[in-house]
Amino acid sequence: MSKRDFYEILGVTKSASDDEIKKAYRKLAIKYHPDKNPDDKAAEEKFKEAAEAYEVLSNTEKRQRYNQYGHAGVGGASGGGGGGHYGGGMNMDDIFSQFGDIFGGGGFGGGRSSGGGRRVMRGSNLRVKVKLNLQEVAKGVEKKLKVNKFVSCGTCKGSGAKNGQYDTCKLCGGSGVQVRTQQTFLGAMQTQTTCSGCNGEGKTVKDKCNTCHGDGIVRAEEVISINIPAGVAEGMQLSVGGKGNAAPRGGINGDLLVLIEEEEHPELKRDGSNLFYDSYVNFADAALGTSIEIPTVDAKVKIKIEPGTQSGKVLRLKGKGLPDVNSYGTGDLLVNINVWTPQALSAEEKKALETLRASKNFAPNPNRKEKGFFDRMKEYFE
Ligand SMILES: [Zn+2]
Ligand SMILES: [Zn+2]
Repeated sequence: MSKRDFYEILGVTKSASDDEIKKAYRKLAIKYHPDKNPDDKAAEEKFKEAAEAYEVLSNTEKRQRYNQYGHAGVGGASGGGGGGHYGGGMNMDDIFSQFGDIFGGGGFGGGRSSGGGRRVMRGSNLRVKVKLNLQEVAKGVEKKLKVNKFVSCGTCKGSGAKNGQYDTCKLCGGSGVQVRTQQTFLGAMQTQTTCSGCNGEGKTVKDKCNTCHGDGIVRAEEVISINIPAGVAEGMQLSVGGKGNAAPRGGINGDLLVLIEEEEHPELKRDGSNLFYDSYVNFADAALGTSIEIPTVDAKVKIKIEPGTQSGKVLRLKGKGLPDVNSYGTGDLLVNINVWTPQALSAEEKKALETLRASKNFAPNPNRKEKGFFDRMKEYFE
């Protein structure tokens, strides 16, 4: 399933200012707010979609990553295959906690007034870093990560209670919320806050489990296997649903957020999906032609240097770059040919060159057909 473009969702242009983005989001948040659209699934989806778009575009760093890499750059890589589900998505609590910022303090208040009910605890997200070498970036890789995290308590099966028994919370009568009425710019609105007696769960543990002391979770080491799609880049974040910390008393697990780091390759440099290699040939080889060995992601390959090759010529090896994480395309390997001018010469070598120096074949030809530096740069960046 492909996600809609964040700019399109908010109805702004790619060059929109922070203020325009905020205004556009504010409008959508009011239009699709659950309080104005009770039991309207479509409105709720739109509300969430707008919140997710705003979450990214309101953050300079995330917006930059999104502009560069699309959804994959901000933890929403679709596909990826195997292991986890990648994909951002925000829950309602995240969205409402964002509102203080949009509506300037008061506004909607912290909670929501419709569709209330008991809160299910959610485990916190777990953040890990993964360092990949170029081969792993090129092919995609399955990584087994050892993490220390909260897992469900085995003794009480996560309930936190000795016999799995709970009491109804006395403060909220089991509803999990405390209700108050507030004046907002949308009119009088009931807002609910989470019950302080039970943290919104509506229940309290009767006899606490001895192992977890009533929390339902314990710390443990776990090996998590994640599939990293090919073509990821430094700074990208993958989100693996449900692999984060377990929640107290049988709630919903948090997510595992995997931050990608790249190991630098000793010879190949990367720019997006293209790779670069800087090679040197001696000027006899450049004049007479030769073949040289160059590294690629997989193995060394031989390429031909034509007789009369100029220094600065760029050879493009199609498809020898990296796969694009957002599409089926693959980048190229660009080989920059430098002609090495000898810096130490013997007397005989000097003599040989002296005799060649006067030859008209050695004079630079300004009308040569090879592309100059500026042409090459233009070609690359366009
Ligand atoms: Zn327990
Ligand atoms: Zn309560």
